[in-house]
Amino acid sequence: MSAKILDGKAVAKHIRENIAKEVEKLKHEGIHPGLAVVLVGNNPASMIYVRHKGEACRTAGIYSEEHRLPADTSETDLLGLIDKLNKDPRVHGILVQLPLPEQINKDHILKTISPDKDVDGFNEINMGRLMTGQDGLVPCTPLGIMKLLEHYRIQIEGKYAVVVGRSNIVGKPVAMMLLHRNATVTICHTRTKNMSEICRQADILIAAVGRSRMISGDMIKDGAVVIDVGINRLDTGKLAGDVDYEGAAEKAAWITPVPGGVGPMTIAMLLYNTVKAAKHIARK
Ligand code: NDP
Repeated sequence: MSAKILDGKAVAKHIRENIAKEVEKLKHEGIHPGLAVVLVGNNPASMIYVRHKGEACRTAGIYSEEHRLPADTSETDLLGLIDKLNKDPRVHGILVQLPLPEQINKDHILKTISPDKDVDGFNEINMGRLMTGQDGLVPCTPLGIMKLLEHYRIQIEGKYAVVVGRSNIVGKPVAMMLLHRNATVTICHTRTKNMSEICRQADILIAAVGRSRMISGDMIKDGAVVIDVGINRLDTGKLAGDVDYEGAAEKAAWITPVPGGVGPMTIAMLLYNTVKAAKHIARK
């Protein structure tokens, strides 16, 4: 079997065009969605992500502001900025780019962001809402995965889904979203035994590990749907996913490429969440 591509780049473009149209309409209602992105320090990858997020906002007509703070910023100063942004009526979404320097406790920061403005969906209130099946803001990468599956009308109900990785930002929330859509879900991690066998049974396999090509073709069931979240920089400078694309594509029915799969969907969902937050705050 030669897998068909789940083209995140194309789907994200389509979503972003629709968001731009919606933003235009909202402005006529007096709602101008706005996102504040906060970057502490000079992590090169974070600087690129922040730039892309700002550009994506501006292209969609969303107001965006960037706050770049020095690497030695104290937790108190960062909490002070978040407090200001929580109160700022121009700002509907607050994103604090991770990772943060070690003098700052990430959990203190995430729980201080107003749940209404928590466009990353990392605040414990929004995490709890996701867990209990209530509406809220949910993390962008898992949401992007679900929108991609939806776009290609991939059946989820009754399927066996395996998620490799249990982080709060990808593995756990995507597992919960699949569960809410009536998949039967297994989550694998570093202590999982017989991981290859478990993966081989998956109708839907989500790899969110951060280890280049660790999911090989012989771990894929014939006809599976494979979602590769991993972004790993190889020594050659090229990007690779967590899945051995060539090997997996021979077995799978559908697969995401890296780059051009989950990554663009993540950015599109940040815009989606910002517009959702703006509408919620304005109509509360
Ligand atoms: P984390 O490092 O937070 O989590 C990785 C998870 O993988 C952990 O749960 C870990 O298990 C598990 N893991 C690591 N090694 C193995 C192994 N050998 N066998 C089984 N499980 C293993 O990563 P993230 O969830 O933040 O990110 C995962 C990947 O996705 C990264 O490459 C990241 O760059 C990428 N990413 C991509 C995004 C996008 O937009 N495309 C967005 C976010 C992330 P344990 O808990 O036991 O340690």
